Amino acid sequence: MTLIFVFLDGIGLAPATRTNPLAHTPMPAVQSLLGGPLTSEQIGYRDELLLASLDTCLGVEGLPQSGTNHVALLAGVNAPALHGRHQPHFPPVALRPLLAEQSIFRRAQLQGKRVAFANVFTEGYWQALATRRLRRSASVIAAEGAGLRLRDLHDLRVGQALSWDITGEGLSARDPAAATIPPITPQLAGERLARMAADYDLVFFESFLPDLAGHGRLGPTGAGIALSRIDGLLAGWLSARRPGDSLLITSDHGNIEQADTTGHTTAPAPLLVIGPLAAQFRHLRRIDQVADAVIAALAREQG
Ligand SMILES: [Zn+2]
Repeated sequence: MTLIFVFLDGIGLAPATRTNPLAHTPMPAVQSLLGGPLTSEQIGYRDELLLASLDTCLGVEGLPQSGTNHVALLAGVNAPALHGRHQPHFPPVALRPLLAEQSIFRRAQLQGKRVAFANVFTEGYWQALATRRLRRSASVIAAEGAGLRLRDLHDLRVGQALSWDITGEGLSARDPAAATIPPITPQLAGERLARMAADYDLVFFESFLPDLAGHGRLGPTGAGIALSRIDGLLAGWLSARRPGDSLLITSDHGNIEQADTTGHTTAPAPLLVIGPLAAQFRHLRRIDQVADAVIAALAREQG
């Protein structure tokens, strides 16, 4: 019984209004699962299916941001309150040790669970860190703190990793070494995620597509592309999942659900859980409660 945790940056759960791309983009897998779009009208629980909304503001003024809310999700702490404000992009330096020590990756491993971080990291990424063009993401800090193996292009080539853009279409532009690795369909990406679950208790995958689309960085059709890929990923997982596995999808703040702005929103994040563990997440109200619930759910899986 594996939990697959899919983190999607920048998706809010909002009503199905005219300006909400989630209400208008064809998402057949979501539609058939929820009986409607991924909007707040579908909030509810039934057997092995939960859609809840999670507060992302955490009592701190201003728009929620990735740097602090990634820490909130992965380490289960009110990172914006600890930091004194919402911080964009990368985790505050002062919170890095806490994240490395208290992440869901490390806590799951201390329980004896097998944990996989499914994203691929290219040489280009490590070079960007070395030359300080990028700073470590929260997920990488957490993975390194837990001693997780970070996957490379070889893993991607043999179907044991995923690109953050789901299909890998943008990879060769970022790393020439990826040029000989053909992109995959979103459906196949989801099937791959389902298959990876066979060897692990917790599989984590993250995508920044919806946030980039929400910021307008993927062009006028970006929201449609991002949401279609996410729907395909879900369809692929649903078609290849083992019956005992559960999929959890959540986010750090709103963005893509509000097409008439290119900034973040204060909308709650969706918490979508499919599978036998869904009921164990019904009590959650805030994103900083996700990590504890993940650890508790994994602990109950103890055979
Ligand atoms: Zn974000």
